[in-house]
Amino acid sequence: MSAEQLSKLSLSDSMVTTRAGAARLRTGPPQTPQGSLTSSPISPTPSLIESTNGHVYDISAFDEDLRRRAKIGLVKDDNNIRMRFCGENDDGTKYFFHLDDDITVKLEEERVPKCSCGSVQDRKACKHIFWILGQLSSVLPKNQTIQLAEDGSSVKNTHPAEVLQMRSLRDFADHLHWVVEDEDLPETEELVDEVDNMMSCFEPTGLLPAEFKSEDTRELSDLSRMFREIRSIIVEHAIRYPAFFMQLQEKCTPEFQVQVFFEKINKRVDGVFNALDEYIEKGPTNQRSESLDVVSCAARLGCLVEKVEEYRDDSLHSDAGERRDDTEIEKLAAVAYLRILDEVTRRNYNAYADNTWGMPMPPSDPSKNNLFVCLIGSASEENGFFILDNLRDMAPHIVRHHSVDLGDIENRLRNTTLTPPAYLNALRTLIQDKRKRAASQSGGSSAKRTMQ
Ligand SMILES: [Zn+2]
Repeated sequence: MSAEQLSKLSLSDSMVTTRAGAARLRTGPPQTPQGSLTSSPISPTPSLIESTNGHVYDISAFDEDLRRRAKIGLVKDDNNIRMRFCGENDDGTKYFFHLDDDITVKLEEERVPKCSCGSVQDRKACKHIFWILGQLSSVLPKNQTIQLAEDGSSVKNTHPAEVLQMRSLRDFADHLHWVVEDEDLPETEELVDEVDNMMSCFEPTGLLPAEFKSEDTRELSDLSRMFREIRSIIVEHAIRYPAFFMQLQEKCTPEFQVQVFFEKINKRVDGVFNALDEYIEKGPTNQRSESLDVVSCAARLGCLVEKVEEYRDDSLHSDAGERRDDTEIEKLAAVAYLRILDEVTRRNYNAYADNTWGMPMPPSDPSKNNLFVCLIGSASEENGFFILDNLRDMAPHIVRHHSVDLGDIENRLRNTTLTPPAYLNALRTLIQDKRKRAASQSGGSSAKRTMQ
């Protein structure tokens, strides 16, 4: 049920079908035309009060102290009463509402509502109970005055537990942005981690989640430092107000986070190759754009591959990762890897051969002037196979999706003597193996890795 539908609900018609309270609601409480919002010469609190969302409550039967409590709970905007989370017992007869400052309100069928604040006396409700009643009655139509019992045991002659049962706690929670315990709440540590993941999407300098969470702040810009301070404030609030955390989660979904992560990775991959071109063309002294020599470019690519691997690991093993879509991560990781491998295998030449900017003593060693040799030239079982090791680790159907590109790369590798035979073999094995396994798994239903 949508919030919109719920807000249109009238407890006096469509909402009620079976409960005992229904009959009472249908007849409605007696109206009190003598009351008015400003009447009551004796009391500073009028006998009718109007909540900020436009509901009018009749508190004419209340004494002064009780009126004050009702007013705080129902009307006062800055009453500092906030829902942390709520819950119900298995058979739906008892509800609890955990509020800020460790206050708990309990509602149980046919019983007087209880509050842990200690001010419920002589069957007179406290401001917290009135607040709950105000929240529950916010779905009522606004054209009728709402009667409340002194002890908080009825709203329009219906017990608040019954009001909840007419729909469900879940419906009310969705409508009022409450958090339902167990269903929604992660452990604090996991919650903090997840807020960090979310915040990292908007980090002003494009830090990845792991970099953002790192304690090392030596190289951070002023803007990044300030962003971290703001993050701490948001984390504090998310711990304190689970509903706020839920709202963040709605906006900054795991899917969105995965997209942002790989956008950043792809941007960095582009940046690394551009920086190499910049170096080849103009040399190291360019203040406007980054330039990287062959060896530094290779190191940077290796580092990016590691970042992607960390992210994959995190998504497969950590709590935060459990909610992420592994298949999407694997797909996007494979795309990034293929892009890197494709570019590297196209750069199988001495990058400094036609140097125009007067590079002093260009290195003659191919492992220092040829990006391909630098990353793949010494490949072996022992040294590892650049990118192929990562692709081998992926589900067959993910890799098979790139079989045309891998075929092109294989052609390129076959036509140069600089390809270590072991690397070419590893590539062929990968292509064949994934083809076979993808066929036997008929498309593969899981992206979970087989090698850990
Ligand atoms: Zn209380």
